[in-house]
Amino acid sequence: MKICVVGTGYVGLVAGTCFAETGNDVICMDVDEEKIDGLKQGKLPIYEPGLQELIRRNVQEERLRFTTDLSGAVQESLIVSIAVGTPQGDGGSSDLSYVMEAVRAIAKAMNDYKIIVTKSTVPVGTADKIAQEISSLTTCEFDVVANPEFLKAGAAVEDFMKPDRVVIGATNTRVVEIMQDLYAPFTRTGAPILVMDPRSAEMTKYAANAMLASRISFMNEIANLCERTGANVNFVRQAIAKDRRIGASFLFPGLGYGGSCFPKDVQALIHLAHEHDYPLKLIQAVEEVNELQKRVMIHKILNFYSSETGDRKPDDDHSSLKGKTFAVWGLAFKPQTDDMREAPSRVVIEQLLALGAKIQAFDPEAMKEARKIFGDKITYAKNNYEALKGADALILVTEWNEFRNPDFKKMKALLKDPVIFDGRNQYSRREMRELGFDYVGIGRPSPA
Ligand code: NAD
Repeated sequence: MKICVVGTGYVGLVAGTCFAETGNDVICMDVDEEKIDGLKQGKLPIYEPGLQELIRRNVQEERLRFTTDLSGAVQESLIVSIAVGTPQGDGGSSDLSYVMEAVRAIAKAMNDYKIIVTKSTVPVGTADKIAQEISSLTTCEFDVVANPEFLKAGAAVEDFMKPDRVVIGATNTRVVEIMQDLYAPFTRTGAPILVMDPRSAEMTKYAANAMLASRISFMNEIANLCERTGANVNFVRQAIAKDRRIGASFLFPGLGYGGSCFPKDVQALIHLAHEHDYPLKLIQAVEEVNELQKRVMIHKILNFYSSETGDRKPDDDHSSLKGKTFAVWGLAFKPQTDDMREAPSRVVIEQLLALGAKIQAFDPEAMKEARKIFGDKITYAKNNYEALKGADALILVTEWNEFRNPDFKKMKALLKDPVIFDGRNQYSRREMRELGFDYVGIGRPSPA
């Protein structure tokens, strides 16, 4: 099949490459010339495990090409898949300007029948809006399909190649068959292709993300209550996860969810509900809890140092961390990605800087992104140990594998004081106590 993917970001590049891998003829198009030039030279704009090799192979076998020429790409394709960004707009709404700009350009370029697919996450009703816009600009025939994407940054290739399910929102039977053929190679292991109307498909994506975000906020609230009642959230999590009705995923407390999807999709759903005069009380609370959770570690840090100095109201003093240096391990919003959009690390670092502290940061993949965000406001370490040199404490924000079993003796020697604020509950409280660290986690009583 001939496919054009409009927007070559995390989703577009992965989707386009995986479609090529299953034998299709794919052109990935983007308006960002630098990105496309880089891709033509084999340079990836993002980090995703396994993607580089897959791109190399499919480019070599001439199934995958990159272009900035939308017209050419549209004209030689049957399927035009839109994977441009849908960032947060005014009042939490989903900003559809990139999608509609792409739609207008596609419509103007159309020379014959096309299947226009939305891979971007778009509000309910967008497929109809797109159909109206295209009809106003061309006499060519077309169908619009809502085909939300559920891949996870950090495991995007794996998720795309082996999805839990594929959702196709379309009404035309012939188009449904074409989409089923396109996805058949990815669903051989039995994953269902669920066919529904476009509005339900669009809603499915928001409902899935809101459900996952709810689990995170739920566990963060339980963790905070554990701390106040002397319970240990690790025991609680393990025990509830064994209940088959609950399951184990998305139950790890931390510093709140971030990334390019959950925050904006939760906001967009809240906004959509307001437009329909049906405020979503539960989802609004999920969002509020998350905003508070991003600040939980700062309160812990301030409390830790105020109890050391005997200060009464640490939060009031805007330079209360002046003279302190913190090593931060993990900047990406989660492991296995360089994506720092809405990452909790950004809130933690901005607050520490505002309180007069200095930061020495390290992330295995997100250093380039971090430089774009923080510039020379923080120091960038070459590795996780270098970040510790002379620091007053370590703050672990993102649980990369390489931070799981570090050399604690080396850490103790490098740090000025043996203090760890663990935002992901990676380390054993007992081991920390035995090694002589002051250790502060999430939802667990401090070591006795
Ligand atoms: P991204 O910002 O990484 O990529 C978007 C790309 O679109 C950019 O390269 C940009 O230059 C390009 N673009 C913008 N306007 C364009 C136009 N008119 N023509 C051609 N290219 C254009 O975004 P992303 O993370 O890949 O997300 C894309 C969509 O997929 C969003 O709606 C997002 O919510 C959804 N989604 C993302 C993920 C994820 O993990 N990142 C997962 C599922 C769904």
